[in-house]
Amino acid sequence: MLRKISFLLVFVLLLAGVNMSAENPQYYILERQRMVERQIEARGIKDSRVLKAMQKVPRHLFIPEENRHSSYADTPLPIGEGQTISQPYIVAFMTEILDLDSEDRILEIGTGSGYQAAILGEIAKEVYTIEIIPVLGKRAEKLLKKLEYENIYVKIGDGYKGWPEDAPFDAVIVTCAPEDIPRALINQLKEGGRMIIPVGTSGGVQELVKGVKDKGRFKTQDVLPVRFVPMVRGKDKK
Ligand code: SAH
Repeated sequence: MLRKISFLLVFVLLLAGVNMSAENPQYYILERQRMVERQIEARGIKDSRVLKAMQKVPRHLFIPEENRHSSYADTPLPIGEGQTISQPYIVAFMTEILDLDSEDRILEIGTGSGYQAAILGEIAKEVYTIEIIPVLGKRAEKLLKKLEYENIYVKIGDGYKGWPEDAPFDAVIVTCAPEDIPRALINQLKEGGRMIIPVGTSGGVQELVKGVKDKGRFKTQDVLPVRFVPMVRGKDKK
């Protein structure tokens, strides 16, 4: 009898173990909930649209399999080609500061995994995102399509030029660091438009800068010290 009970107990525990594993879709939903509560809300992010988007977008699908177990950890992660997906808090912080509206059209420089674009796509009307490394851009485009984001447009190209054909934009977000704010990106911002961009040398000090176009003038303000991958120059631009 005792043997039967302990056998049953092991069986039940095994089942419980399976339920807690990453194969269960519920597992990632709970991981995301914990991420939003402990890393995002706890640090002062309040915009309900940002919190809702961070709760909804399956971050683990944007991360290569070998690092998937760390998808909801409080850290940036490698996504291949020497590039990284930002820490969840930084994604939330940069999104909130843009003060987005459901009618806004946004330009993102540095598609990377496509995760930041998906968060923006949940909140805004349209997202135009540019990636300079073709394999990353193509992979992100495929995943975003699979997740049915019909309002996100991916282009392989050099972000220093922006996306003049579809400018001007209500907001510009840059997720790689140039040494100075590229002039084309300022030009492609609407009057009243907002920009968030890390500025500084690679490996050195970088500052997240918030910019606003106000009566034709571009006003900036430093908001947070950060570390991003460099914004590289396209080959045709010396
Ligand atoms: N937003 C991304 C983070 C990507 S890391 C995400 O959510 O995953 C920054 C990305 O910027 C890298 O993929 C890098 O290749 C890209 N990048 C660097 N210089 C660029 C440039 N000049 N134009 C466009 N993308 C650039």
